[in-house]
Amino acid sequence: MTSPDSSPFPYEAPVSAALFARGQEITPGGVNSPVRAFRAVGGTPRFMVEAAGPWITDADGRRYVDLVSSWGPMLLGHAHPAVVDAVASAARRGLSFGAPTEGELELAEEIRSRVAPVERVRLVNSGTEAVLSAVRLARGATGRPLLVKFAGNYHGHVDALLASAGSGVATLGLPDTPGVTTGAAADTIVLPYNDVAAVEAVFAERGSDIAAVISEAAAGNMGVVPPLDGFNSELRRITATHGALLILDEVMTGFRVSRSGWYGLDPVDADLFTFGKVMGGGLPAAAFGGRADLMAHLAPSGPVYQAGTLSGNPVAVAAGLATLRNCTDDVYAHCDEVSAVLRGAASAALFAAGVPHRVQQAGNMFSIFFVPDERRVRNYDDARTQDVARYTAFFHALLARGVYLPPSAFEAWFVNAQLGGEALDRVLEALPAAARAAAAAGGDPRPADQDLSEVSS
Ligand code: PLP
Repeated sequence: MTSPDSSPFPYEAPVSAALFARGQEITPGGVNSPVRAFRAVGGTPRFMVEAAGPWITDADGRRYVDLVSSWGPMLLGHAHPAVVDAVASAARRGLSFGAPTEGELELAEEIRSRVAPVERVRLVNSGTEAVLSAVRLARGATGRPLLVKFAGNYHGHVDALLASAGSGVATLGLPDTPGVTTGAAADTIVLPYNDVAAVEAVFAERGSDIAAVISEAAAGNMGVVPPLDGFNSELRRITATHGALLILDEVMTGFRVSRSGWYGLDPVDADLFTFGKVMGGGLPAAAFGGRADLMAHLAPSGPVYQAGTLSGNPVAVAAGLATLRNCTDDVYAHCDEVSAVLRGAASAALFAAGVPHRVQQAGNMFSIFFVPDERRVRNYDDARTQDVARYTAFFHALLARGVYLPPSAFEAWFVNAQLGGEALDRVLEALPAAARAAAAAGGDPRPADQDLSEVSS
């Protein structure tokens, strides 16, 4: 455990440190989701007290520019007035009914109107729940046991999908998680991401037993690694040839990278899609959906059981609806623009400081890989070649200057629609010092004449 006293960084957060110490007496590791504990970067995790627009304020009263955006959901910025009003007015009408409401239909219709292959939608409470339900449905509908997933993709803490998972599993460098039985893991085949030949090979051997391939629509949980051109459509072709289903996980990308999510940028007609994050507007709401004939296997239409006491909760639905309805074309244009400005400025600062790196994007999501040779990062093995010591130094230099980045090199940076003006200037001003900190932290400097290039989605 990193204690605040051993923190090598020239700033302090005594109130957060005290809360973190108290947290460790009541919850494992002091946090309710592992990556929040700053284990990968060290130092004191900031306990937050409020957020507005592009800013987030910690318990010590320090205000940061927030490039985490609650790990994606806050596309409109924090405490957007229309979303807060919708939540307050829904709450006044009742917090939960355990009975259907019109709002649930409106949210489902909103999702369907944006992602053409989605004919029916089921609302749930988290991305994890969306994925585990979609996987159960795929197995139930096909009568087949096996599932193919890709190393470095994260689909929530679903037993069958934790093998070689990204996000917190990658951050903490965990091996396969204890508590997942051999049985649960045995039906999962893990392949390298962006490797069509590996998918072909596994289908040639075991195709008739494979229920589904699940893939992040664009991977964002090992850092941002977009699919190579045609990868998702190859997955579509191969699964269809073998009577298996394709599940595209848009929990992270959905309604974030365009009004139709990754589907809006790379329209591949998966059988099932999973959604979360932005569609809940910061409250716990998620969904899965797909072809009507397939979704009809779900209870009560069909035999595949799936349920939830709080599914379609009226307050969460109100937050999601207000968020989606306010995600205008201008919002996406602004996020694209601000993401491009940040990518360019970060790259320029790192270049000037002689730090080898690679910037990769999927729409407005992006991350910086401190990889030695600057080649395109295509998969988890590539992502793991990064120099995490450099990221740690970069992260803390920015934190000390009031910029809050994901506390892990294996996560995406999330911009929001309110990022501009003073907040953007603060990041731009802080980047050169952060780049110099990264330079001082690790390996050999890059030869000054080497080109920088960026992967685009
Ligand atoms: N799928 C993807 C692609 C995700 O990025 C995540 C979370 O980061 C999940 C599923 C799980 O969602 P949740 O954390 O809401 O359970």
